[in-house]
Amino acid sequence: MSELKYLFGPAPSRRLGRSLGINIVPAKICSLDCLYCEVGKTKTTTIQRKPYYKASDILKEFKENFNKFEDLCDTVTVTGAGEPTLNSELDKIITGIKELTDKPCAILTNTTTIHIQEVYESLLKFDIVVPSLDAVTNDIFKAVNLPEKSIDTANIIAGLEKFSKEYTGKLFVEILFCKDVNDSRENIDNIIKVLKNIKCSKVQLGTIHRPPAYSTAYPVTDEFLLDTAKDLLMNNIPAEVTGGFASVYKSSASLNLHDLIPSLLKMRPCTLLDMSGVFGKNEREIKESVNKLVIENKIKAIEYNHDTYYTII
Ligand code: SF4
Repeated sequence: MSELKYLFGPAPSRRLGRSLGINIVPAKICSLDCLYCEVGKTKTTTIQRKPYYKASDILKEFKENFNKFEDLCDTVTVTGAGEPTLNSELDKIITGIKELTDKPCAILTNTTTIHIQEVYESLLKFDIVVPSLDAVTNDIFKAVNLPEKSIDTANIIAGLEKFSKEYTGKLFVEILFCKDVNDSRENIDNIIKVLKNIKCSKVQLGTIHRPPAYSTAYPVTDEFLLDTAKDLLMNNIPAEVTGGFASVYKSSASLNLHDLIPSLLKMRPCTLLDMSGVFGKNEREIKESVNKLVIENKIKAIEYNHDTYYTII
């Protein structure tokens, strides 16, 4: 398989099943610079929408390669190592994908553009939308997400509320907590107030699992996440705690791990166990390909939280 530019994975996920990723913006074209970002710091945050990658190129690669992944994935997920809604051809992309597959299409968004009418309308076309909402006041939002200066949480909240009432697909709101940044009682109470007005399928609570962009960012405890989930449930908000990569599946399909591993690591650092879960292969098989890629200087190992992660060079 020639090296893919836009498609990556598929990766197993509790909410999306086996998800084939489509990266529609270049690395770190993003409106935020989240402390916990797995793909490094954002040099310059931007809210400008542009055809960073052309819809025609993305759809061409999808059309030519999707058959190799079709049996390996349950969902097609538009995402990126940046904010996918900043691609101004998002509408052409979702329309084109829907013409090429009946699989459910999901998008992961940081929600900063949801109030823009064109983005709003494109998001309605997805079967699953996963917006993040780590804070609902500008001070805490700035501390955890380091946004582009014109972004205001009031627009995000109003956009998400309106969207949730019109949208008929599955809406999974994602909240990521960083210790001593957005885990205060005050932030949780404010988030609960906002969530009460958002009609969503589930709120998913998580924390840092992989090396973060800022080494000063730390995870909260599992106990904190469980207590917060209980708080939300007490307020009639459907909530659950999420982990790192979800359950491991086994695949007997023949995969070109030498090409697939770098394309996965472009998106996030992974352990051998993560990769084993993603590709459905045992760790020994993964390790052989990983060792080869390390020798070829394509990927490298880094230590984080008592685990060895591999990342692209
Ligand atoms: S986590 Fe997502 S939204 Fe935050 S900086 Fe990274 S790519 Fe952007």
